[in-house]
Amino acid sequence: MERESLLMILLLLLGGLVIQPFALIPSHDGLGRSDCNVERRAWLRLWLPIMPALLVAAWLCGWALHEPDPVDDPLGRWELIGACFPFGVVMVRAVLRAIWALFREPDDAGVCTVGLFRPRILFSPFLARKLDEGMLHAAWQHEHAHARHRDPLRIWLAQFATDLQWPWPWARKRFDAWLEALECARDDEARRHGVRGADLAAAVLAMVRQSPVSSIDAARRTAGVHTHALLVGDRQALQKRIARLLSPLPELQATSDQRLAGFSGIESWLAGLLAVACVLGILYGEPVMHSLLAWTS
Ligand SMILES: [Zn+2]
Repeated sequence: MERESLLMILLLLLGGLVIQPFALIPSHDGLGRSDCNVERRAWLRLWLPIMPALLVAAWLCGWALHEPDPVDDPLGRWELIGACFPFGVVMVRAVLRAIWALFREPDDAGVCTVGLFRPRILFSPFLARKLDEGMLHAAWQHEHAHARHRDPLRIWLAQFATDLQWPWPWARKRFDAWLEALECARDDEARRHGVRGADLAAAVLAMVRQSPVSSIDAARRTAGVHTHALLVGDRQALQKRIARLLSPLPELQATSDQRLAGFSGIESWLAGLLAVACVLGILYGEPVMHSLLAWTS
């Protein structure tokens, strides 16, 4: 079999086998609302079940780099394809939903940030006429915070990571928890740029009143994919969010910078582990893979 074909099949098979048990890790709501790093923690929690599969993929890529082409496959092409078929279905579904999200027009969201690599803010003229200057500035700063962090791209990637864990519901719960934390984080960032919490709360409520039966939440939960960073997030969390906006802005904790540095350290560690896995694949991939295929044949 061609080396690249076998690599693709093994990525699906082993990657899928590794993702599924980690996707079963239950989601829990242990995110403190006063923690400035809550969005960051939710983001890492969302990606955690995917990380072991990334290590396996790096190891397989290292193995393929060292493997001659074509390769022997004692199991045979069709047996391998049959074994990875269920994970292939999950992958195809995830890819199709990711493509669909790219071409989907923004909902009637009033104001949102779109664009994966060059984020831009869309503002409904109808909504703009209904908001006073303070509310407009608040909504603009909230969306500007989304654009600054490239949130449309992050939403798209997070949706894809969630779809790789289909059909387990906890992955979706982790995604929803991150979206909720994302809105709070962008609210806080807007307020640190001089926005009054009351103005932002009023802008959010005006947006809700404009489309009281909006399909935003329904769309997220059913057809459910898009790349738009909205002003109004999950409406079930709206009451908490408004109360939070009307409360004093949480102070940045003294250890915040240290924690952020710690998270950056985690990502550096992950990049290092991926490199190590790739090198191990180059050095020891062939005997391990030979034993594995011989054992399963
Ligand atoms: Zn938002």
